Formats: sequence, C-alpha cells, structure tokens
Amino acid sequence: MAAPAGERVVYLNGKFVPESQATVSISDHGFTHGDAAFDTMRTFKGKVFKLKEHVERLYRSCKYAGIDPGISQGEMSRLTDEVVERNKHLLGPSDDFWVTQRVTRGVPSARPGEKEQPTIIILCRPLPWERAKFYQTGISMRTSPIRRTPPQYLDPRAKLQNYLNQVMAEMLAKQGDPDVWSLLLDENGNVAEGSGYNFFIVRDGRVITSHERYVLGGISRQTTMEICQELNIPAAEMDFNLYDVYTADEAFITATSVCLLPVRSVDTRTIGDGAIPGSITGRILGTWSGMVGVDIAGQYLAHIKSA
Ligand code: PMP
Repeated sequence: MAAPAGERVVYLNGKFVPESQATVSISDHGFTHGDAAFDTMRTFKGKVFKLKEHVERLYRSCKYAGIDPGISQGEMSRLTDEVVERNKHLLGPSDDFWVTQRVTRGVPSARPGEKEQPTIIILCRPLPWERAKFYQTGISMRTSPIRRTPPQYLDPRAKLQNYLNQVMAEMLAKQGDPDVWSLLLDENGNVAEGSGYNFFIVRDGRVITSHERYVLGGISRQTTMEICQELNIPAAEMDFNLYDVYTADEAFITATSVCLLPVRSVDTRTIGDGAIPGSITGRILGTWSGMVGVDIAGQYLAHIKSA
C-alpha cells in the first residue's frame, strides 16, 4: 500500500503500510506486558550503521526472552534496509534516520496449546535533532535514586521492551529541569549506565566504563572501545563509583542517536576543568565522524541552525 506523500512507511507482520495504518492489537503481549524485545540503530548517509551487530543483539534479546521472531537474521536485516530504502525520499540533504525493530510475543492464541505468532514492526523516524545543543554545552546528569535492574531479576544485557526502570529514573532526574539526564548505579553502588545510554569516565588518559554485566552492551559503547584501540588510548571495563566520577578528568555518554555526548556535570560537580568536549572525548568523536564520513556533531548542529 502506497503511503500518502510525506508519510513514512512501516513494516508490520509481512506488509509495508503507511505509518498511520500500522496498528497492533490491544491484546498483544508487547502492549499488555511489555513482553517484547527491540533494537534501535541509526543511518549515516542513508545507510544503517552496524546493522549486523544490532540484529545480532536483537536476536540475543529475543532468545533471552524466549520469543521466536520466526524470520532469519538475514531477513530481518534485509527488511530493515528496505524500510530505509522506501522512506529515503523523505530525507533532507545530509539528513539521517533513527531505525527501530520491535518483536513482541504477539497476540495470545484463542486455541489452547497453539503458539502465538510474534508481531514484528520495523520503522524509521527523524533523529532527535533537539539534542544538538548538548554537543556544545555537554550534559548535566543526576544520580538516580532508582538502581539499574540487577541481572538476577532481568538481565540488562537484553534490550527488552519494558523500560520502566529507566523511564522512572529519567523522570526523577528531570524533575525541575528537563535537560538533566539520569545516571543509574548498580545494586552494589557502582556506576551502571544512563536510562538509554552507556557512561564513560576518563582518568589520567585512560577511558573507563562499567562491566557489561550490569548494563546494555551498547553498540556505540563497543564502537568507542574500538576507536580507543585504534587511537592507542587505554580503555577498560571496570567497577567504579561516584568518587571516581566526581574526580574524573572527563566523562561522556554513548548511544546510537547521538553516538557520543560530553558530560559537563554529575550531581552538580563539574567534571574535570569543564572543557566541552574534553580532549580525549573530542578525539573519539572526531575519529568516529571520520570513520562514517559524517561530522556527527556538525550534522546535529546544522539542524538547529536550519530550524
Ligand atoms: N543502555 C541502555 C539502557 C539503552 O537503552 C541504550 C540505547 N539502546 C544504550 C545503553 C546504548 O546502546 P546503543 O549504543 O546500542 O544505542
């Protein structure tokens, strides 16, 4: 079905439909119980970045949740590329998409013993260009009173639809200031991650991030580690706590949409000398931009200038 001019097309259970007509049953497990897995990626120059890695993570999340997508990883990747392709004409010059796949356990079967069919949704939408200002100002973070869900309850390495742990942390962080971002600790008081982003500090020239045990293994986090290796910047996963954060030389977060954003302060403590970006943070983002052939911060900033 062709979408009206200007409307995006979505993949839903075997069909490409206009977004306004992509509807899901109110009995779908994804809706009633947050019983679903998802993954989100972005494009650079209209091509999905690290599609294979994202699809592999999606399938690990599904396997952990016991949801069978019913299609191969290759088919999921092909359909994702097709969604981008079918919407490409809506991209402005030097524009890019956020792309999401969702796989829910589906609608409970009316017949006892019959297996549900999963619901598969693949969609794209504009990147959150309003975050552009944070490349210039850095972000302010606040430690959340809510801890990150520990792996013995629900493993944070799986990207599951139920985000209430992170949503509530973000709501509390933003009370009084919508520009504040949340930082969640793990059950032991070490730093875990943000509500939708991984967290790094830089100390004495060394890049440090939390162990994957307590966080989502971000694809951007992985890319950051690879860039550090390329730049001969020592980088490691380790336990660290708020003392290490408050006294760090630099801090930054990583997430698919923004790739990397410098952190200006945590709990009102300015990080390092307050330079945005710090020198290592800036080198990592610069290398990333070179790797994908897009000035990542520049592309965001161009959107606020043209708004
Ligand atoms: N942690 C959480 C809880 C997230 O939701 C995300 C965003 N998917 C990330 C970290 C960053 O992961 P990625 O770099 O793959 O976007």
